[in-house]
Amino acid sequence: MSIKYWPLKRGFMITSPFGQRAGGFHAGTDFGWEGGSANLPVHAVKGGTVIYAGAASGYGGPDPAGWIVIDHPTEDGGGVSEYGHIIREVQVGQRVEAGQRIGRINPDSRTNGGVAPHLHLSVMPYEYNPSRKLDPVPWLDGALYPGEDPPRPAPVPASGLTAEVLSQAMGGSVPIERYRELLPGFVNAMIAAQCTTVERAAMWCAQIGHESAGLRYMEEIASGAAYNGRADLGNTQPGDGPRFKGSGPIQLTGRHNFRKFSEWCHAQGWVDSPRYFEDRPQLVREDPKWGFLAATWYWVVARPNINTMADARDLVGVTRAINGGTNGLADRQLRYKRCLELGAALLPKAGDAPMSAQEVQEIKDFIVEFCGPIGSDTKDVRQQLTGGRDAGEYPGWEQLGFRTVTDAIAQVLLNQVAIAERLEALEKGKNDDVR
Ligand SMILES: [Zn+2]
Repeated sequence: MSIKYWPLKRGFMITSPFGQRAGGFHAGTDFGWEGGSANLPVHAVKGGTVIYAGAASGYGGPDPAGWIVIDHPTEDGGGVSEYGHIIREVQVGQRVEAGQRIGRINPDSRTNGGVAPHLHLSVMPYEYNPSRKLDPVPWLDGALYPGEDPPRPAPVPASGLTAEVLSQAMGGSVPIERYRELLPGFVNAMIAAQCTTVERAAMWCAQIGHESAGLRYMEEIASGAAYNGRADLGNTQPGDGPRFKGSGPIQLTGRHNFRKFSEWCHAQGWVDSPRYFEDRPQLVREDPKWGFLAATWYWVVARPNINTMADARDLVGVTRAINGGTNGLADRQLRYKRCLELGAALLPKAGDAPMSAQEVQEIKDFIVEFCGPIGSDTKDVRQQLTGGRDAGEYPGWEQLGFRTVTDAIAQVLLNQVAIAERLEALEKGKNDDVR
């Protein structure tokens, strides 16, 4: 299964379906938009390579008006799609991704027999073969709409991945004690990578499992000297090759990537410098917490389509995104199947994720908002009691003769003493009289 898209954004109409119609068989589906379709963007239904583009008989011209035909490799879902009465914005030989804008509907209806501007879409199951055109609507059943993301992953259950399940997922390549040691960093990074559905978690475990041989290797075995002077990796200083050798379970490599990873961690509020790992590259190899987060960075920042492909169970697509090719595909497939079978047991427990900079700020804002008034009230009470920290800051109660409460009570006590003394004096005088 791979990702597929409708050729027009949500809200389109089918203006003429596939099948018999007046004048013959309509070997495709016409798509349009209420109120007119001139210049409406047209999107590739699947990923693939453009094999024809430009002027074409029945679809108009001159180039760039005409048609586009895209061949979809098996890993993109297979088949061929043909878009007519359009103006192309891609060229022959170009790779396009599913949902990518490839052209627009030709506003000139003289090129389509005088019918209002629309898109004609034909699809074929294997290679380009006009005699084998299928109905595109069932072929695209369940497709996404251009510009819309796949559904959000479901909330995480409270169970939580255990070291035992991690060991099973990884094929038991290291002792269970080692998996227990790696588990917190692994789970933390998995949540940070939003791998909280079975499809994403299985893809995460399968790909990281393959790249690290079951979490056996947290760094490249070679010395890294081969990367010295590699400008494409940002290795500009002597010794950068070994210094920034492949690190973490999916091997963050080169000064440039260590800097990008540092900048991302800094933006999340996890480290105090945007050069943190450029200055301390060994931490990515030696501390599994950072090694796994380097994998997260790759998964969600360097290759931001991985989770979308994981949602569509597109193992080949994710493999290409990580490997650049399809090395080790058989091992990855075995691991992926095993991980999918583990299902929800692979899911991390909610609440273990690292806090983002935004979450930290929200907590700070809450404290200011909630405790600010309390602090202000406390200051007011203190001023009423003692007059505040600075002399003259608070004038005191008018009813108490501009005294603070403390001063007023002290005055009352003093007065009491004076009254008592006066009473005593009066008593004494009375007794003297009697005597
Ligand atoms: Zn048509």
